[in-house]
Amino acid sequence: MRAKRLIGHFKSCNDERLVDDTGTVTIVLRRCSTCGEQKELVANYALNGLRDGLPAYRKECKTCYNIKRKENKNKKAHSGFIGGQRRRGEEVPKLTHQEWKEAVIFFSGECAYCGATPKRGRVLTKDHLVAVSAGGTTTPDNIVPACEHCNSSKGNKEWRDWYMAQDFFSQNRMNQIFKFRSIQRIVGEDEDQPVAQEAQVE
Ligand SMILES: [Zn+2]
Ligand SMILES: [Zn+2]
Repeated sequence: MRAKRLIGHFKSCNDERLVDDTGTVTIVLRRCSTCGEQKELVANYALNGLRDGLPAYRKECKTCYNIKRKENKNKKAHSGFIGGQRRRGEEVPKLTHQEWKEAVIFFSGECAYCGATPKRGRVLTKDHLVAVSAGGTTTPDNIVPACEHCNSSKGNKEWRDWYMAQDFFSQNRMNQIFKFRSIQRIVGEDEDQPVAQEAQVE
């Protein structure tokens, strides 16, 4: 049986199907949307993969699959958090999942206050530097990653007062928080710029 190559014949253009002379699909290749490599679908799942929209697993892409699943879970948790802020009465919580990820990267995946990294199965929480009850907002310049312990210990207290009273207080990390906040504010101003310019034209 000689395999013929069909390209772009099916709805999912990420797939390439190899068919034999009888028209039976023998191999399905699918491009992984995470690593970008084209890989053969695992035999057991290949038949499912023939119908578009059904899950199909690529050989050697288990890691990509796990990354994606984790990312989707994080995105879901993020929109849950934003929805919670709305329910608590905040009018426009303005923090994208991407901005939150950038905040975590800025603090090297550590709690902005004590420097702890979350243990297995635990996550960094989104802590409002200035508590919502004190007029703080859910915006990139007011959300820092914090371990669950710091987040609940800080509560609604003024963050600098609370932080300086802790055993794990670090001037370096406090400077990092100030630096982070300034950067976020500058970025925020840049985003508002086009609107301001339009207003000036009139
Ligand atoms: Zn992959
Ligand atoms: Zn902490």
